[in-house]
Amino acid sequence: MLVLESFTESLREGAAFIAGQERWFAAAAMFVVGCLLGSFFNVVGLRLPEGKSAVYPPSTCSSCGHRLNAIDLIPVAGWLIRKGKCSHCGDSISPIYMLGEIGTGLSFAAATWFVGDVRELWIVYPLISVLVIVSISDLRYRLLPNKIILPAMIVCLALRLWVRELPFWEYAAGFLLGGAMLFAVAYVSMRIGKPAMGGGDIKLLALLGLAIGVKLVMLALAISSLLGFLCGMALLVTGRIRRRTFIPFGPFIAAGGFVALLFGNQLIAWYWSQFPGLTG
Ligand SMILES: [Zn+2]
Repeated sequence: MLVLESFTESLREGAAFIAGQERWFAAAAMFVVGCLLGSFFNVVGLRLPEGKSAVYPPSTCSSCGHRLNAIDLIPVAGWLIRKGKCSHCGDSISPIYMLGEIGTGLSFAAATWFVGDVRELWIVYPLISVLVIVSISDLRYRLLPNKIILPAMIVCLALRLWVRELPFWEYAAGFLLGGAMLFAVAYVSMRIGKPAMGGGDIKLLALLGLAIGVKLVMLALAISSLLGFLCGMALLVTGRIRRRTFIPFGPFIAAGGFVALLFGNQLIAWYWSQFPGLTG
């Protein structure tokens, strides 16, 4: 908890600083900050579900146990310099590390560029951080850790009581509806004997609803489902998975939430503008 609070605090100070700078400079700076943090989120996402500490012991090659040195630990560049291989045993290092770093960097940069209200960034950076960490855990262990999601709910609630663009009830309704929509999917899929949704997915969408509000969380679920469907079809068609293979849904919720967070209001406005008769 204390770590999350001081983390949020330092992001807030960073946001206040960059708010005074040019927008492209701010986005570039937050790209670098995101890549550095992403490297830490990788470790948290990969170690936390196993009950290991995120800071000790230092990272090692998963193949030979060789301790990673300064160059290996540079986000993105380290992986590229080593061409994705361990400098000791030459075994390949999973690109998931580099993707986690670059994904966090790009998300931070895009949020800095597109989120107009600087106060809103106080919610946005921590939210992206949580989405990255749980996506990594879900991809690796098919698990969305409570140890991240539950404290994040409390921090998000505290932030939303204090920073908000919409009336508070919209965030509260987002929390309830986000949870309820996936609970309904989980319940129905269990009754028909094809469980499709875990408790972690339900809690993650509830958290997202609390962070972005009721309208955007509905859009986020629609985008997540579409992305999940397209990705599942692509993997099936290319023969990467079989019909019954379980695909973790957490990363799709994260991606849908991110798109809704950045472009949701524009997407909703565009959607309604297609039906001028209804709004006129
Ligand atoms: Zn090695």
